[in-house]
Amino acid sequence: MPRPVQAEISLAALRHNLGLIRQKAGRARIWSVVKANAYGHGIANVFPALQNSDGFALLDFNEAIRLRELGWQGPILLLEGFFEPDDLALIEQYQLTTAVHSFWQLAAIVNARLRRPIDIYLKVNSGMNRLGFAPDRLHAAWLEASASSNIGDITLMTHFASADSETGVAAPMALINALGAEMPLSHCLANSAATLWHPQTHADWVRPGIVLYGASPSGRWQDIADTGLKPVMRLSSQIIAVQPLQPGDRVGYGGRYCAAGSQRIGIVACGYADGYPRHAPGGTPVLVDGVKTAIVGTVSMDMLAVDLTPCPAAGIGSPVELWGAALPVDDVARAAGTLGYELLSALAPRVPVVTD
Ligand code: PLP
Repeated sequence: MPRPVQAEISLAALRHNLGLIRQKAGRARIWSVVKANAYGHGIANVFPALQNSDGFALLDFNEAIRLRELGWQGPILLLEGFFEPDDLALIEQYQLTTAVHSFWQLAAIVNARLRRPIDIYLKVNSGMNRLGFAPDRLHAAWLEASASSNIGDITLMTHFASADSETGVAAPMALINALGAEMPLSHCLANSAATLWHPQTHADWVRPGIVLYGASPSGRWQDIADTGLKPVMRLSSQIIAVQPLQPGDRVGYGGRYCAAGSQRIGIVACGYADGYPRHAPGGTPVLVDGVKTAIVGTVSMDMLAVDLTPCPAAGIGSPVELWGAALPVDDVARAAGTLGYELLSALAPRVPVVTD
């Protein structure tokens, strides 16, 4: 029998989430963001459920090529653009649309020998200070791009730093509206948070990622609980050993948990080498036999320990849900001081994945 740990990917939930996002997005077309191996879910796994997307957005050429091999003939957007001029050969071969965030990228396209024009997303820095042209340089970039026969459609793009806050898109939108008045371009602005909570950002295209996978862009499950979005990944395992503890007994590396009274703990076949966060403290929620309990002690590479007090019937072989439909990944991430984004995308390659 294989080690009892697995991730189940619900394609039904994924399809449902895409449909729900389509309703939210109105007339805007949808780039489904599948970077980081579809946020840990696996590009090939999610592809059948996301084929109604208008395009796929990602970072790596190998992921773009994988999509073409899977039969996707529609648009693919490279969210960070390309990394050296030679990459243009792949962009041309696989008919990719690329973000352009720097003048060197623009010059590389303008000076390349291409058989057909490349569509680009001109990225403006609207305050995140990560990638993008300074707002006062965008016009020059647009003039250069529009004058080049190597460039086809040009779309204006930005990435919001704080779309999960109520006021976070106000300043960037004022900037985008001012730039839009100078340059007649289609726009692609909204990530998940903006798609859900800021309809004024929807424009021509939206770029949702995390909501497709049924986790919250704010890191708080309660913020999306009433939207109808469904968690897509379920990470599950089993109890493989039970330890009866006496008062004063300690658990795990460093003995960080100390039993106050007699209790039973269960050892679960899932650890940080599977993608469970090592820094999840005691008290992080987990389900055993469908009953909510908590982890105790330090998470090991291949195992973690859980308190069996709330589930006295549990024993070797009892099912354990680390996160999933009944235990939102956001709740686990929050206890561990991180976001669902990190936990999902850190699912380890050694964990077998099954789809419904
Ligand atoms: N667009 C860009 C440029 C991104 O970097 C990301 C993710 O970080 C997204 C869209 C999707 O973001 P989210 O998963 O919050 O929807």
